[in-house]
Amino acid sequence: MRLVLATANLGKAAEVAAVLGAAPDLGGLVLVPRPPSLPEPEEDGDSLLANARIKAEAVVEATGEAAVADDTGLEVAALHGRPGLFTARFAGPGATFADNIARLLAELEGVEDRRARWRTAALVAFPDGTQVEAEGTCDGTITRAPRGTAGFGYDPVFVPDDGDGRTLAELTREEKNALSHRGRAFRALAERLAGLPWSSD
Ligand code: IMP
Repeated sequence: MRLVLATANLGKAAEVAAVLGAAPDLGGLVLVPRPPSLPEPEEDGDSLLANARIKAEAVVEATGEAAVADDTGLEVAALHGRPGLFTARFAGPGATFADNIARLLAELEGVEDRRARWRTAALVAFPDGTQVEAEGTCDGTITRAPRGTAGFGYDPVFVPDDGDGRTLAELTREEKNALSHRGRAFRALAERLAGLPWSSD
């Protein structure tokens, strides 16, 4: 099975490749990088799943091949679930990872309740219109200052409940994938893909 990765985020692509590459029963899987010339579609869906679908379908349309995408959001309890769908643009259009982290820490200045949840919707779209979907979550807390240099995005300020107190940016890729929203979503997706009749072709 060949799947084109819809993401242009290298950190994300590496995590997805590691999880799907290690999935039992998906031995024949070949992951193909996103063609660099493809324009990124506007993510204007009303849910993470809708946005993942927009990203995957744009790649299917451009390449004629099956594509795999995810859309991910951070839900902060004290911010009533924000930034959610707007996680990538929290500090405004064109925000960098550092800008978004600064905005988050500023909004949580003096706030005791630092609980948050990552949520990932993962989806494979096939040229015949078939789609396979899965979701994964990761509960944790937002730190008061960034720690660690691995991973990407908000990883330096998120401590997962299932870990040992390190932020996601202080974990190796394998450690992050074992407990992260994306790891969980893509392991569930892999199980569903492995159940499809053509997966061993
Ligand atoms: P998207 O799924 O690429 O739209 O991601 C939304 C936003 O969340 C972007 O700012 C990403 O950098 C950030 N993000 C997505 N996944 C993770 C993660 O695993 N750790 C930290 N930040 C993430």
